[in-house]
Amino acid sequence: MTHPTSANEELRASRRWLVTGAAGFIGSHLVEELLRRGQYVRAFDDFSTGSRENLVDVAERVGDAAWERFELCEGDLRSADDCALAAGGTELVLHQAALGSVPRSVADPAATHASNVDGTLNLLVAARDAGCERFVYASSSSVYGDDPELPKVEGAIGRPLSPYAASKRMAELYADVFQRTYDLACVGLRYFNVFGPRQDPEGAYAAVIPRWAAELLEGRDVLVHGDGETSRDFCPVANVVQANLLAALAPATADARVYNVGLGGRTTLNELFELIRDSLAEFGVDVAAVEPRYGDFRPGDVRHSLASIAAIRAELGYEPEVDLREGMRRTLEWFLADRARTDSFPG
Ligand code: NAD
Repeated sequence: MTHPTSANEELRASRRWLVTGAAGFIGSHLVEELLRRGQYVRAFDDFSTGSRENLVDVAERVGDAAWERFELCEGDLRSADDCALAAGGTELVLHQAALGSVPRSVADPAATHASNVDGTLNLLVAARDAGCERFVYASSSSVYGDDPELPKVEGAIGRPLSPYAASKRMAELYADVFQRTYDLACVGLRYFNVFGPRQDPEGAYAAVIPRWAAELLEGRDVLVHGDGETSRDFCPVANVVQANLLAALAPATADARVYNVGLGGRTTLNELFELIRDSLAEFGVDVAAVEPRYGDFRPGDVRHSLASIAAIRAELGYEPEVDLREGMRRTLEWFLADRARTDSFPG
C-alpha cells in the first residue's frame, strides 16, 4: 500500500470536522490540534464524563482567532436526532464519545451498551446520511480479551472479558458493515492505555496515571490492583492525535480498517509507579518514600497488554513522537499547573 501524504500536507486545506466526546480527555486534544491547524471543528458532547473546563483550557491554549472556528453542539449519542444535527454539514468524523472503563461496564452494562453501541450506530447512520467522507472511531485494546498472545496483532482477537470490551467490538462490527453496505469509509483505532493532560483523576473509574498522581500529591494511599506485575502499553495522547489525523486523511481503501495505537512497549504497574514517583521528584515533589498498597485483582481486567504497531506504521505512516518518559513529564507538568490554578481559586 502507498503511504498517505503526511497529515501536515493534507491539513493545508480547511475541512469541517465533527469530534464527538470533545469535552473528554482524548477528544479535547483532537479539538486543540485541529484548531491549531486551521480546521473547522464541531464538538459534540453530553458532558456526562467530560467537562466544560477541558474546553475552556483548549480555548485558552489556542487563542481567540482559532476559537472562532469552534462550534459546540451539546447532545447525546443515544438520540438519533442529536446525532443527525451533529453530523450535518461535516466532512470528517472523529468519534471518541463513549462511556469508558471496564469496572463501570461491569457495574452497569446497559448504560455502556446504550452509549457505546446504540450511540455509535446512531452516529454511523447520521454520518452516512450527511455524506461524510471518513468515519474514524475509538476502539480499544480490550477487544483482544482472553487471547494471551503478545504483542497484540489486529487479526487475532479473543473473547471479550467485559461489557465494555463487547461494546467496543460491536462498534467495530457495525463500522465494518457500514463500509460494505453503505460505502462509508471507516477506520477504527484500538487505543491501548492512553494518558496525558486533562485526563480526569477523580471518581471510581479514573484511569491509573492521573489517579496515582493525585493520590501521591495529596499524601493518600496508592492502591495497586493485584501484584503490580500486570502490564500495559501506556501511550501518550499526542501519539493518539497523530493516529487520528493519519486515519482521517489516508486514501480510502475498499475495506474498513482497524489499527492498534500504542507505543509498542510494555510497562508493569510497579514500573509505572516508580516512573511517576521519579518524574514528580524532577518537579521538586518529594514522594520517594511512598510505597503502594496492594489489593485484589479487578474483575474483567486482562493481565498483559502490548500493541503491535507494525500495521499502522506500514499502512498509515504512524510513528510515535512522544515516548513514555516525555509523555509522563508533560502530563505531570500540566497536572501540577492545574492544581496550582485550582488551589488559587478556592470554592
Ligand atoms: P472521556 O470520558 O474523557 O471522554 C469521553 C467523552 O464522551 C466525555 O466527554 C463524555 O461526556 C462523552 N460522552 C459519553 N457518553 C456520551 C453520550 N451518550 N453522548 C455524548 N457524549 C458522550 O474518555 P477518553 O479517555 O477521552 O476516551 C475517549 C474514547 O477513547 C472512548 O471511546 C474510549 O472508550 C476510548 N478509549 C480510551 C482509552 C484511554 O486509555 N483513555 C483506551 C481505549 C479506548
